[in-house]
Amino acid sequence: MTERLTIAIQKSGRLSKESLALLNACGVKFSINEARLIAHSTSHPIDLLRVRDDDIPGLVMDGVVDLGLVGENVLEEVRLEREAVGDAAEYKPLRPLEFGGCRLSIAVPRETPFEKLSDLNGKRIASTYPYLLQRYLKDNGVSAKNVNLTGSVEVAPRAGLADAICDLVSTGATLEANGLVEKEVIFRSQAQLIQSNEPLSPEKQAMIDQLLPRIDGVQLAKESKYIMLHAPKAALDEVIALLPGAETPTVLPLSHTDEQVAVHMVSTEKLFWETMEDLKAIGCSSILVLPIEKMMG
Ligand code: ATP
Ligand code: MG
Repeated sequence: MTERLTIAIQKSGRLSKESLALLNACGVKFSINEARLIAHSTSHPIDLLRVRDDDIPGLVMDGVVDLGLVGENVLEEVRLEREAVGDAAEYKPLRPLEFGGCRLSIAVPRETPFEKLSDLNGKRIASTYPYLLQRYLKDNGVSAKNVNLTGSVEVAPRAGLADAICDLVSTGATLEANGLVEKEVIFRSQAQLIQSNEPLSPEKQAMIDQLLPRIDGVQLAKESKYIMLHAPKAALDEVIALLPGAETPTVLPLSHTDEQVAVHMVSTEKLFWETMEDLKAIGCSSILVLPIEKMMG
């Protein structure tokens, strides 16, 4: 019987869609039945375990699943908590995943005077991340009281439950809507791919060894563009200088003219409208910027 690799992802929430999309882009296909905890891959001996994001680090650390995709905020909070109570807290970080970006920040009501972190001495801070919060306060020599909540942290000050909050922020709109001002970033996070510390069978290891370069390829492709344009032969050096991050371009003759050439290149940097305007100004035309789906070196 073939051994099946198990991967835990968030069932429904901010990480679900991109976690599935990443696996899909790596050629690992699933047909998801919303009601079911487990989804079997239709392309690989891989099973997906769809759970609350809070459960993912523990499942990996206990060796119940082989891999997990989870926010570093949840990962580090659970690690600190398990370490504190003496549970297994080891895992192998495999790849930062470049989605699920957010920060864990301390915020206070707009009318609260706040100049420095030590203003929080003796105050009550509401959070769902007590371990990350206390570690940060301790590292900075501040002593404040945790008010542990499992949700709706942003309303705690108005409800008189706390003087400040410590919560996840991405745009800051939720803070703003609740009359709160962000004062201190305590942790920056993105999604991370992690592996259990348990020894793996050669079959499972081979699947991971195939998956990782594919993830790298998907991420590299996301940042890269394929650029095609017609350039005056005489301006070729200038064109290349305008396109930083471009690897050696392919230069092709054009059938209708000797003055111009076609230039094709992969650029690993974002191409701005300004650069395209500069290219046009030195005589380039037919400038096309295309997305790349997959890349392998
Ligand atoms: P679950 O039901 O799985 O426990 P949840 O409500 O705890 O879901 P989500 O709100 O879906 O979690 O967020 C999942 C993760 O997405 C967060 O832990 C964090 O890593 C990331 N994230 C990115 N941006 C934000 C944001 N603006 N607010 C909260 N989380 C964010
Ligand atoms: Mg959660």
